[in-house]
Amino acid sequence: MRAWVLDESPGRYRFGTVEPPPPANGEVSVRLVASALNHMDLWLTRGLPKPVTPHVPGADGAGVVTAVGEGVEGVAVGDEVVVNPAVSCRRCATCLAGESPLCPSFGILGEHRWGTHAEEVLVPAANVVPRPAALDWPEAAAYGLCFLTAWRMLRRARLRAGEVLLVVGVGGGVSSAGLVLGRAMGAQVFVTSRDEAKRQRALALGAAGAFDSGGEFAVAADVVFENVGAATWASSLRALAPGGRLVTCGGTAGSKVEISLPRLFFKQHEILGSTMGSYAEFEQVTKVVAGGVPVVVDEVVDGLHRLPEALVRLESGQQLGKIVLRH
Ligand SMILES: [Zn+2]
Repeated sequence: MRAWVLDESPGRYRFGTVEPPPPANGEVSVRLVASALNHMDLWLTRGLPKPVTPHVPGADGAGVVTAVGEGVEGVAVGDEVVVNPAVSCRRCATCLAGESPLCPSFGILGEHRWGTHAEEVLVPAANVVPRPAALDWPEAAAYGLCFLTAWRMLRRARLRAGEVLLVVGVGGGVSSAGLVLGRAMGAQVFVTSRDEAKRQRALALGAAGAFDSGGEFAVAADVVFENVGAATWASSLRALAPGGRLVTCGGTAGSKVEISLPRLFFKQHEILGSTMGSYAEFEQVTKVVAGGVPVVVDEVVDGLHRLPEALVRLESGQQLGKIVLRH
């Protein structure tokens, strides 16, 4: 099959040919109609992290099942599906307790195994769900990783209807998912961005207010939703209301931060880490988007072969929402 391949990391992707094996026990093969970009696609080329090579990138995708392995039930050739990028053993005590992101064998499609920037992808049958009828192919390909991550973050932060949510750095896919999911959960959502056009787009998506990421955030937030890191950390903590929870899934602008302990304990703040999500959370968030929560797609690029220019757009940081390749 045709695929984007990384022969060494750090390195550059080449558009080449690789031969995936037929589906093993419990696996299915999916012919991808669309795949979505994530920052992981860039980090892999810098050796952060270093995948086993040769490697095929791409965490997100949607397509049609072309083959099923032994023992697969409930998925058939011809099914239109969305791929869940969070893969775990589904058998250990952690997985059975519904906490598969903590499974010792947890892995992400396109990082720990071959991904979706290819004609076909091989995944456990448990990692596909029927494509919601309300979503077109680019939307179906776009929501997986970001909406799953944002959904678990909001659950871990125990966001409730009526609370104030502050989404810091609203341009990225996880953050824009945080905005629309927070709105759907009944929160009043404020956002930050360095970019005036993105602040305006966020307001159009229902944000109650928008701040410049470089200044102070004039809000008392019950939940602060972070993945920027060092560049916004101090302002994010100052924006937390007493008893507030800050949840983070990344540090794209610096990973070393400071915490003032008196502020932490006097105000009884909580700082929570979160990553990806469980199988149950993927099913939940699929129902949420099937119910009409908008999947924000910034741009659809036609042609699997056009990954490099889509990556340039991703790296420029000009997007609000997801960049999708239609294969
Ligand atoms: Zn497990």
